Amino acid sequence: MGEKIFDCLVLGGGPAGMSAALYAKRGNIDVAIIDTNTLGGQPVNYLEIENYLGFPLIEGWELAEKFEEHINKFNIQKFTNEEIQSIDLISDIKTIKTLKDTYKARTVIVATGAKSAKLGIRGEAEFLGKGVSYCAVCDGAFYKDKEVVVIGGGNAAVEEGIYLTKFAKKVYIMHRRDELRADKIVQKRAFENNKIEFIFDSIPLEIQGEKRVEKLIYKNVKTDDKKELNIQGVFPYIGFSPNVELINGQIIQDEKGFIRVDENMRTSEVGVFAAGDVRKTPLRQVITAVSDGAVAGMSAVRYLEEVDMLIKEGALKA
Ligand code: NAP
Repeated sequence: MGEKIFDCLVLGGGPAGMSAALYAKRGNIDVAIIDTNTLGGQPVNYLEIENYLGFPLIEGWELAEKFEEHINKFNIQKFTNEEIQSIDLISDIKTIKTLKDTYKARTVIVATGAKSAKLGIRGEAEFLGKGVSYCAVCDGAFYKDKEVVVIGGGNAAVEEGIYLTKFAKKVYIMHRRDELRADKIVQKRAFENNKIEFIFDSIPLEIQGEKRVEKLIYKNVKTDDKKELNIQGVFPYIGFSPNVELINGQIIQDEKGFIRVDENMRTSEVGVFAAGDVRKTPLRQVITAVSDGAVAGMSAVRYLEEVDMLIKEGALKA
């Protein structure tokens, strides 16, 4: 990119990032999106989305495709499949170095999203791709007529558990409490599905097997009884952790690493905004990510307008 300085770089091309870029571009600033993958973000891996207003039922990848078509209409620049080496959010001019190039900008919107949280038990890393999967949509078909266990009690665990019954002959859903966190409508569908068996009050301890997953050792937290489950697949769906590895320490984050922002999506660092799943928020949905992105994009535009005004008045140096 040489010495080009963008008005705004959006880190992450999921729903929050695409929405932020759209609002920034429509605010007439020079904006580009950088992503380590293709655009789309997490919805690409979601099955069906039925709570995005205006689309009673749409597949995740299809909604992501619609978002991308929309931003393409506004000719927003995209740098995809970038391997990011370092991020400097502290200097006046922010810098993102990737294996391919160095990008500079006056503002940055962090919309890097979140990734599946790990169980942190023995066997989890060892059997990744050999029976441990964080994506039922991607890997479900490998479990035809097999038995699998999903860990977690939220919407993701229960929805993905239902999805896995299309392939597996039996799906256990193991939850650490005796009450699910998932929406009631999702719970009802799962309770009515005779391929699903719930194991409540239980936590996984260890995944075992020879070359692939063969069993899960778990414990009932009320009785302390240890038990074994013969399964060929383990799907942990226990929430998310933020993608902030290269940002840690530069801006204020909560104890889990989620970025703290104010109502304008401003972070603790001037000229840096955050939107979507990466920020501390009470709800992580496509619709809230898109809404965050809109606020962050507009905030970047307003911030640049103010700075440019001060420069014009001589109160700030260019
Ligand atoms: P979530 O709602 O935070 O649920 C996480 C679940 O994992 C909870 O039931 C939690 O138990 C359990 N858990 C957390 N840490 C654990 C640990 N160390 N060991 C065992 N269990 C643990 O997360 P989510 O279901 O991934 O959903 C995240 C957001 O995405 C939500 O807003 C959800 O509505 C949305 N969403 C996702 C999908 C999808 O991915 N397909 C679909 C629809 C909506 P407790 O209940 O005891 O805390």
